[in-house]
Amino acid sequence: MPKYTDFFQQSIDQPELFWGEQAKLIDWNQPFEKVLDYSQPPFARWFVGGKTNICFNAVDRHLKDRSNQAALIAVSVETQTEVTYSYQELYEEVNRMAAIMQAQGVKKGDRVLIYMPMVATACFAMLAALRLGAIHSVVFGGFASHSLAARIEDAKPTLIVSTEAGLRGGKVVPYKPLLDEAINLSSHKPSSVLIVSRHLCDYEKVAGRDVDYHELRAAHMDARVDCTWLEATDPSYILYTSGTTGKPKGVQRDTGGYAVALAATMPNIFCAKPGETMFCTSDIGWVVGHGYIIYAPLIHGMATIMFEGTPLNPDAGIWWSLVEKYRVSTMFSAPTAIRVLKKQDPKFLEQYDLSSLRNLFLAGEPLDEPTADWISSAIQKPIIDNYWQTETGWPILALQHGVEVMPTKLGSPGLPVFGYNMKLIDENTGEELGRNQKGLLAIEGPLPPGCLQTLWGDDDRFVKTYWQTIPGKMLYSTFDWGIKDDDGYYFILGRTDDVINTAGHRLGTREIEESIASHSNVAEVAVVGIADNLKGQVAIAFAIPKDASKTEGLEDQIMKTVDRQLGPVARPAKVYVVPALPKTRSGKIVRRALQAILEGRDPGDVSTLEDKNILTQIQGIIQGS
Ligand code: ATP
Ligand code: MG
Repeated sequence: MPKYTDFFQQSIDQPELFWGEQAKLIDWNQPFEKVLDYSQPPFARWFVGGKTNICFNAVDRHLKDRSNQAALIAVSVETQTEVTYSYQELYEEVNRMAAIMQAQGVKKGDRVLIYMPMVATACFAMLAALRLGAIHSVVFGGFASHSLAARIEDAKPTLIVSTEAGLRGGKVVPYKPLLDEAINLSSHKPSSVLIVSRHLCDYEKVAGRDVDYHELRAAHMDARVDCTWLEATDPSYILYTSGTTGKPKGVQRDTGGYAVALAATMPNIFCAKPGETMFCTSDIGWVVGHGYIIYAPLIHGMATIMFEGTPLNPDAGIWWSLVEKYRVSTMFSAPTAIRVLKKQDPKFLEQYDLSSLRNLFLAGEPLDEPTADWISSAIQKPIIDNYWQTETGWPILALQHGVEVMPTKLGSPGLPVFGYNMKLIDENTGEELGRNQKGLLAIEGPLPPGCLQTLWGDDDRFVKTYWQTIPGKMLYSTFDWGIKDDDGYYFILGRTDDVINTAGHRLGTREIEESIASHSNVAEVAVVGIADNLKGQVAIAFAIPKDASKTEGLEDQIMKTVDRQLGPVARPAKVYVVPALPKTRSGKIVRRALQAILEGRDPGDVSTLEDKNILTQIQGIIQGS
């Protein structure tokens, strides 16, 4: 096994050699002529001239050796069903779905929008779209009509695949009326809407537009649809970012580079082996779900679990019972989900045999120490943080345990992943910073395979948004702020717009949040900076108490904690004790909305918020204090 430094260094110094080697992990219909074309920076074109298909790599190529092996395990706590599809069965279902799409006129380059809960047909639809060379755009099923309409407007799908309803905690959550409203709101109209009925409720069918999946499937039982061979650089999907900092951006992903990058992460980051089972608790509506519920495990010949339900139903042991039952080796979740579990008794987790499980990977937001400690003691497995973005499609910072087992450091997602030429820079001068200096996390172009090619339909916005922080330098901005320690481990300090500049000191909101979170009666906290005449900016904290009956004197104690740990310069000017925080549907705290209401501004685009009422509640608390 090559050691991390050699492996990483080769990826940076000899990218063509390195990625040419990784490209052997997937099957090509036609070999590429050139590994990388970077003649038009910042647009990187990987595996130029090569032809492949992601669906072929995820399904067809495994039929030879794994046709009877489990491929997709669809578990729904909501409908009390568990269905395992072998690779052969998955192949057949994907072919049926592809034939149905083809009959609706879907062809190469068309968009297929998928607005579905966590059910097997959603997976079939993703794979079938790519089989035809169409571009899918999966929209998280929890979004309401306004957010959905914006994505329909932007992606202009030929076909929408949806259902009449989802289920959450036993309650029927209608999808169809939201979809109909979204289509009404959008000026673009899809030619057809494929409804995969779950027989959960009645719904209205729009004549001439809506078609029924079950009827069409019955008509296509024996269908076989050849994979459409795509250029490696042809797009595979569009996925909109979470919208934590503003209007979501339509990230466009390629085909060959993405398949190669995902395949390379499985042995080298996730230590996962073909034939094993992966359980990623994300949702197919997010980038982690695209990569690690669907594509990477299937490309790698694993079985993957798709889970419909909540982590607490019927109790906090549900995920772990699945680890035991399906002998899961590799698990991937998010800190926000673990914080939900943390409010429960760890005995629910401890009662299961987790001997098959190697590691629990977490990503999506900062992993705070109390959360990491709690889950690590409850499951007694390595907890491995990794840092990335919808834009990159796969980890930027991680412990590449498959390459070399590296020690974890609490609070750090680790070291730069192969392919990423990370630079920690001064965002004003572009100058590279040394160890223990805070700066902007940037990636020197070209971005490695699998990262965004552009923003859908808007090359200009792609260049302006990400590549113009430092004029004259090809540096991709992550918009995250970090620091590197003496061993080269990175620590994420927050987003660049979350930096507080108080009396000449630059502080990351994350540092102050970590400090406040160490108080024994704080369950969760958000810190934002607001304008201050004297100091430029001051920090304001919003803390959710663990025990709401013991908040007497909490503000004072929190301030003292920060004084002690970071010094009075970091002390928040005010601490609000709140029952909840505004979060995106993916569980990220929307600090800009808190900042806006504190500064008396309009909170801007809040369409991606999980619960808009929380902002109103917090507004009341601010006004009342
Ligand atoms: P938008 O770009 O639309 O505002 P978003 O940035 O929240 O939304 P995502 O692409 O889902 O959309 O999230 C990526 C961001 O999440 C990163 O830029 C970083 O701020 C945060 N993040 C992800 N993983 C980690 C991690 N392991 N540690 C700290 N922060 C993380
Ligand atoms: Mg972002």
